[in-house]
Amino acid sequence: MRRVYLDHNATTPVHPEVLEAMMPFFRDQFGNASSIHWAGREVKKYLDEAREKVSALMNADPQEIIFTGCGTESDNMAIKGVASTHQDKGRHIITSKVEHHAVLHTCQFMEGLGYEITYLSVDREGLIDPGELRRSIRPDTILVTIIFANNETGTIMPVQEIGEICRGKGVLFHTDAVQAVGKIPIDLKTLPVDILSLSGHKLNTPKGIGAQFIRKGTRLSPLIHGGAQEHHRRAGTENIPYIIGLGKACEIARRDFARRHEVLQGLRDRLQEGIFRKIPHVELNGHPTQRLPNTLNVSFLYVEGESLLLNMDLEGIAVSSGSACTSGSPDASHVILAMGKSALVAQSAIRFSLGWTNTGEDVDYVLEVLPPILERLRSISPIYQKATQSKT
Ligand SMILES: *Cc1c(COP(=O)(O)O)cnc(C)c1O
Repeated sequence: MRRVYLDHNATTPVHPEVLEAMMPFFRDQFGNASSIHWAGREVKKYLDEAREKVSALMNADPQEIIFTGCGTESDNMAIKGVASTHQDKGRHIITSKVEHHAVLHTCQFMEGLGYEITYLSVDREGLIDPGELRRSIRPDTILVTIIFANNETGTIMPVQEIGEICRGKGVLFHTDAVQAVGKIPIDLKTLPVDILSLSGHKLNTPKGIGAQFIRKGTRLSPLIHGGAQEHHRRAGTENIPYIIGLGKACEIARRDFARRHEVLQGLRDRLQEGIFRKIPHVELNGHPTQRLPNTLNVSFLYVEGESLLLNMDLEGIAVSSGSACTSGSPDASHVILAMGKSALVAQSAIRFSLGWTNTGEDVDYVLEVLPPILERLRSISPIYQKATQSKT
């Protein structure tokens, strides 16, 4: 059976060049980067190089990049680190209703510690209202944390405008850019962002490596205390093979950026166009244009997203319903509900997320397999029968 992987926002395959770059650091290059002797010095040189490659992808300075254990750790560090360093100024944090759980659940934890959180709402396309943000900032606001590009819908937030509002009010701005890095241009010399989180495995490294951009001069306490590694910002002997892998992945993302962007967007648009042409009662979730080039979230009304997912899986197609982190629980996506859509729309949502290994044949296969699955599922769906009968 043909296998088609369309779940790249959940995780990506490791790029062969990334794996190759990592291998020596499992074998001969085993030194501790903090050691003064030859074994440490050699590794330190490659560690610095990896930092340069990550910074180059986003036009940051290498000293502004630290490596972490994953995107979730980076998000936790941003929120808890700012909260503990700036609590003399206040205990108010602003976020949105459409964050990844790495941010949302961390904010909920902070509420338990006595911090006050404002959750900004979004419009039907998933965008926050900058005016609401401006009105929500108070003298005791210490942090604004807003996702750069949504993992479920691909909607890209007005990060430039959000950053300018925060600058104007003297409030730190963190963005979870795990889905944005490598997929859309990010220039941190012009973008008014203070802290930015990213993750390797969404960018073709193995799982278990992340990074954080921390703008020069930003006060932020560490999440993990111990040695002096990572400019005193993240203790623990560096995970060198994975750091080298992330450096390589960023180098490749920068090198192949234009071509990947064009190919991904072309395939995604072809998939979207085909679905809307061939299948009735479908609804796009997310912004039509201000969206990641690889992401397509569609509600197939009157069917359960979960059954659709399982039926596609039987045909070898891997997609996701809601976000991968909530699958297994029957909850409808908090992101799609926050966009003002009904539970019916939210529960019938499927996310297709493409990667650079996908081909036109993959898209054609999905467009061939999907319509009969929907016909079958709808033919046994009572809500479909009722809805279509009442229309005639
Ligand atoms: C995957 C993801 C994370 C978590 O990153 P991990 O490296 O898996 O911990 C955080 N935020 C967003 C938007 C993500 O897509």
